[in-house]
Amino acid sequence: INEKGLKIPLDNSPLQIFVKAKKKINDIFGEIEEYVKDTVEYMHEIEKDENIVNGDQVKETKEFVGKVHSIRDVLCRDHMKVAFFGRTSNGKSTVINAMLRDKILPSGIGHTTNCFLQVEGANTEEPYVVLEGSDDRCAIESVGQLAHALCKEKLSESSLVKIFWPKSRCGLLRDDVVFVDSPGVDVTPNLDEWIDKHCLDADVFVLVANAESTLMVTEKNFFHKVSTKLSKPNIFILNNRWDASASEPEFFDQVRKQHQERALDFLVKELKVCTQKEADERIFFTSAKEVLQTRMHDTKNTPLPVTDGFQTRLFEFQDFEKKFEECISISAVKTKFEQHSQRGKFIANQLRDILEGIYNDSLRLKEEKLKQRKELTDKINYTEQQLMIITQEMKKKIHNMVEDVEHRVSKALNE
Ligand code: GDP
Repeated sequence: INEKGLKIPLDNSPLQIFVKAKKKINDIFGEIEEYVKDTVEYMHEIEKDENIVNGDQVKETKEFVGKVHSIRDVLCRDHMKVAFFGRTSNGKSTVINAMLRDKILPSGIGHTTNCFLQVEGANTEEPYVVLEGSDDRCAIESVGQLAHALCKEKLSESSLVKIFWPKSRCGLLRDDVVFVDSPGVDVTPNLDEWIDKHCLDADVFVLVANAESTLMVTEKNFFHKVSTKLSKPNIFILNNRWDASASEPEFFDQVRKQHQERALDFLVKELKVCTQKEADERIFFTSAKEVLQTRMHDTKNTPLPVTDGFQTRLFEFQDFEKKFEECISISAVKTKFEQHSQRGKFIANQLRDILEGIYNDSLRLKEEKLKQRKELTDKINYTEQQLMIITQEMKKKIHNMVEDVEHRVSKALNE
């Protein structure tokens, strides 16, 4: 839905880059799978002829069937992952809810996220939750119930609770985006475990900062650590709670400039994860609360925000969403599918080498047989010639003998 309340065709979404690429690479691997299976079948047929195919070639080709199958399995599960970090109460859960256009994650006082929460799309009609280390699906009726369930469970701060939300209720989830909300970076986290468990496969990180204060050392430390483990992570910085600026319009420009410069320095000079120009597209001033309120108004007719300048902040949030979608989609295609396509190429090359080997062996065998046949034909020809000569000579001899006998008989008769 665009700012005028009109529905934008889904194909316009930059996320379609990933969705289409996923479909395409899936189709290609489908073809490779069929091709490998055909090859195995063909090899079985000609395997009896020991001279053309050997057992090793058949074994190697059979192994490709399993390999291609597991790549296809991974491909089905591949998604775009965005992880949100920042201090408690900066608005991480609210930003996610605003993007998902619904109150999915519990937020607000008393609902501090005390573990990692992952929201992903499900092909079911009703949402459900799966706790770490369990396969049980717990149905959830409401956000309140989810919050209650999360408080009840004794979860460690780095454990993961998965929330499966019906894809039919949200475009981003249908297009394979997975959202991860984290406990605040101020809760003395075990950063290494957090990063190893939840960040290594993230395509985009969003630092939800508080525009009412400044970037904190704890927030910065976390991203320093991330960028030692990942090369050039994609980081967006949201200076959230920007609606607070409306109460002090006289300082608006000055405060914004200060936040902008600090965030820019952090990305460009400290982390060195992007250029100045790129960083300009990564820093935004938002009010997640207002965006969520506006979107809830669209669907549930709840009151609209009233603070001055909320439309401008809404546009800026939409701008963030657009840049985010472009970034995550392109990054995920590169990181996720590049590996698969390398492996696909490797398998196709190996298979071609094996088949070329078989083809060359069969050519050699054919030549050998032709040579043998030629030698045999030569021998037969020679024998035929010899036979002809002998026959001629025999004929001559017989003829002479007959003439001699005739001559002798007639001579005897005359006598
Ligand atoms: P988290 O701990 O970072 O996930 O923060 P929450 O999303 O739970 O938000 C904490 C509180 O801040 C909630 O009461 C939100 O309604 C409120 N909040 C979130 N974003 C904004 C914002 O942009 N402006 C204002 N004024 N309040 C916000």
